[in-house]
Amino acid sequence: MAHAHLIPIFDGHNDALTRDDHAGIATGRPGGAIDLPKMAAGGMRGGMFAVYVPSHDFSSDMVPRDDGVIEQRMPPEIPHQQAATYVLAAAGRLFGLERAGQITVARTIADIDAAKAGTPEGADPEGAGSASAPVAVLHFEGAEAIDDELEALETWYAAGLRSLGPVWSRPNRFGHGVPFISPSSPDTGPGITEAGHRLVRRCSELGILVDLAHMNEAGFWDVARAELGPVVVSHAAAHTLSQASRNLTDRQLDAVKDSNGLVGVVFATQFLRRDFAHTTDTDLHELVRHIEYIGLQIGLEHVALGSDFDGAKVPDAVRDASCLPVLTAALKAGGFFSDSELELLCWDNWRRVMAAWWR
Ligand SMILES: [Zn+2]
Repeated sequence: MAHAHLIPIFDGHNDALTRDDHAGIATGRPGGAIDLPKMAAGGMRGGMFAVYVPSHDFSSDMVPRDDGVIEQRMPPEIPHQQAATYVLAAAGRLFGLERAGQITVARTIADIDAAKAGTPEGADPEGAGSASAPVAVLHFEGAEAIDDELEALETWYAAGLRSLGPVWSRPNRFGHGVPFISPSSPDTGPGITEAGHRLVRRCSELGILVDLAHMNEAGFWDVARAELGPVVVSHAAAHTLSQASRNLTDRQLDAVKDSNGLVGVVFATQFLRRDFAHTTDTDLHELVRHIEYIGLQIGLEHVALGSDFDGAKVPDAVRDASCLPVLTAALKAGGFFSDSELELLCWDNWRRVMAAWWR
């Protein structure tokens, strides 16, 4: 299907860089969700590209307990040295794409704006240069690669790091990720550590967005109360609709609104469905209802997209980046979003929070 009018989309989370077939990002990856041809076909002009250090014994298949609660045992901490080595190579994949002229690594808001303005229908398709390349924000999903003295943070900022989640769903010396439990409150343990407080403060001084996806509730409030910048949760959904520990309660959503932040709604079906099933055989409406709920609850300025492409099973209708127009069409058909409101969801809300953190 050809889309005459593609809405430019900035998506808040993908794991393309850390998949085994990452070499195909430029040319196309059969079975993958994010690559340059699929992004072009879907109007995806930008996104947060995550570097996640894998927990090797972790499986996303969650096991029901006798009482029906679905739980994934918390993976152990990743040693700093192991993470530092892994991240050095994985981020290099993104800089390689930048060097080849295939992607712009965002360092300023002007880079974000150029990518939106370069959306294919308005741009010369043969045009060279950064304006026609999509933009990628380098994001660390978990700060294990950062040392206690935060010296590596300086290096990574200089290289182009512009977004960091202090934790993935495991503990580290900065804080405590939320384990995957369904149903469960997100209030699963202690808040961020003293080193975690120093980390987020230094991020705000440098101009690195702090992302609270995978943070437990106590850590969420620690960072929200520090008022360093808008509260941003790059990929999560509404706890009221699906009581997974990874999702946000209405009180947390209010804090996102009060700080002028946003929630990137995740497409991962185990956080969307009432039964927590992790299966592509999931109706698109399961995703649409979370987007509409968060928009209704805290306003359309505070809801955005955070697919988790290449990191999770997502509804088949939006199986990869080329299918994003199916989602925007469904949102429009639902009558909830006007064209200008779709622009907020698809791009401008992300732009606002990045501008606030990057200064
Ligand atoms: Zn994640």
